[in-house]
Amino acid sequence: SEERSLNFLEEIVEEDLRTGKYAGRVLTRFPPEPNGYLHIGHAKSICLNFGLALKYGGKTNLRFDDTNPVKEDIEYVDSIKEDVKWLGFEWANELYASDYFDTLYEFAVVLIKKGLAYVDDSSAEEIAAQKGTPTEAGTPNQFRARSVEENLALFADMKAGKYPDGAKVLRAKVDLASHNMHLRDPLMYRIKHANHHRTGDTWCIYPMYDFAHGQSDAIEEITHSICTLEFIPHRDLYNWFIEQLEIFPSKQYEFARLNLNYTVMSKRKLLQLVTEGHVEDWDDPRMPTISGLRRRGYTPASIRDFCDRIGVAKRENMIDVSLLEFCIREDLNKTAWRRMAVLDPIKMVITNYPEDETETMFGENNPEAEGGEGGREIPFSRELWIEREDFMEEPPKKFFRLGVGLSVRLKSAYIVTCNSFVKDAEGNVTEIHCTYLPESKSGHDTSELKVKGTIHWVSVAHAKTAEVRLYDRLFQVEDPSNEDNDFKEYLNPHSLQILPNAYIENDLATAIPGKGYQFIRKGYFTLDKHSTADKLVFNRTVTLKDSWKA
Ligand code: ATP
Ligand code: MG
Ligand code: MG
Repeated sequence: SEERSLNFLEEIVEEDLRTGKYAGRVLTRFPPEPNGYLHIGHAKSICLNFGLALKYGGKTNLRFDDTNPVKEDIEYVDSIKEDVKWLGFEWANELYASDYFDTLYEFAVVLIKKGLAYVDDSSAEEIAAQKGTPTEAGTPNQFRARSVEENLALFADMKAGKYPDGAKVLRAKVDLASHNMHLRDPLMYRIKHANHHRTGDTWCIYPMYDFAHGQSDAIEEITHSICTLEFIPHRDLYNWFIEQLEIFPSKQYEFARLNLNYTVMSKRKLLQLVTEGHVEDWDDPRMPTISGLRRRGYTPASIRDFCDRIGVAKRENMIDVSLLEFCIREDLNKTAWRRMAVLDPIKMVITNYPEDETETMFGENNPEAEGGEGGREIPFSRELWIEREDFMEEPPKKFFRLGVGLSVRLKSAYIVTCNSFVKDAEGNVTEIHCTYLPESKSGHDTSELKVKGTIHWVSVAHAKTAEVRLYDRLFQVEDPSNEDNDFKEYLNPHSLQILPNAYIENDLATAIPGKGYQFIRKGYFTLDKHSTADKLVFNRTVTLKDSWKA
């Protein structure tokens, strides 16, 4: 494949390696907050962080950014680990920001002793008001002048649980006139009497993101701390803490987050879809979560390919979901086994075929692979299920499927010609009657007849029944978060279509969970996680071609 040019992060790493900045070491981290399931945006960050380290002989830590006790849960920790592994990456260390609570506390004490942090009794509103505006400097309050001794005592009391939530905060004493609002004496600690999923009730003060993230990076000696663009204004503060504490000089770099159209990506919104029942769960196949994509039939390789193709940008942009679909088609076209399934069945009777006979046809598993990866036997008999849309009572010109007088090839079998059809009392077509040409059998065709259409089928006597689920975009508009109304008002009411009674080749009864199958002419499918031997359920991963229109 073609060598792509270096992205800007690779350029930075190569420069650091050239100058020996970190003695040739590359250590990145992926730092999820365990407050939801990972989504495709996180996959971008995972591929970037792990990919950079792999490329330059480095390593990547998985660090749970668990400094916010209220919304975090062990269920999320487990799902995150499963998803990162499934994507194909191995972390060097599994770490938790909460493991650094003692060290972070000590760091705060160091800053207090240096006169660079103080306990503030003001309310959140007062602090916000005293911060000034981007054009007007903030104003110091009386607490800013507290002595080191007083601050040490008060901070110890905060830790000891002497004050209720919100009564006091610890702030860094940086610069109330800074052009960067984040440097106007940012909060370092707040009081929160809450149980933490790892530290239990040990702590009632918790560090803010800005005081936890950079310090965690430094503790681990992360060389390149990669985050998304909204953290650019935090970078000065990131550096300030590291410089004042004289700890390992990790550096923060920012790239544009992945935005995908026709979906939402914030965990808060995805959680709402789950809790309000708009989707089945976090792993609903319509969700942009990694677990949803997996259940839908996406492969790790297709997601990594997608992340590679979108590249690393420094400016926000919106990626078309059809690129993601392109990537899974590319992968499944090479790997999926071909099978026949009739989703909307109508019966075909081959009137000149013996009643009690069954013939065995042969179909390759994968015509894209050398040797076809073997094949399977396909039973053929007098009565077949075919797709309702492959027959028309009054076919227009250039309809290369069935209508009275028209001929098609049955995939891997014979050429048939339609002679008549049967209707019920309501006028619905219920049966199509055809005759077959015995000398037209696939592979042994001596009929010299040329037909333009080939259709799929399954034998009525041998078919298995399955429920087939077809999916469409979860939202009707490109950017549901950026509309006037609540994003949920733009949910697509037709995002899930359930076909309870599809007929599939009997061979699919032993379909392998997690494997992709191409249902000929109908798309790529995979077994759903709730599929059982008694009730087979298939999800459509993607159609064969991009048929979606705005
Ligand atoms: P969300 O807004 O969806 O809750 P988050 O940034 O709060 O996302 P984190 O758990 O903090 O979620 O994210 C872990 C890492 O993944 C962070 O480094 C974050 O920058 C990155 N990340 C999150 N969303 C995206 C995205 N859409 N594109 C690229 N990286 C992302
Ligand atoms: Mg975050
Ligand atoms: Mg978040």
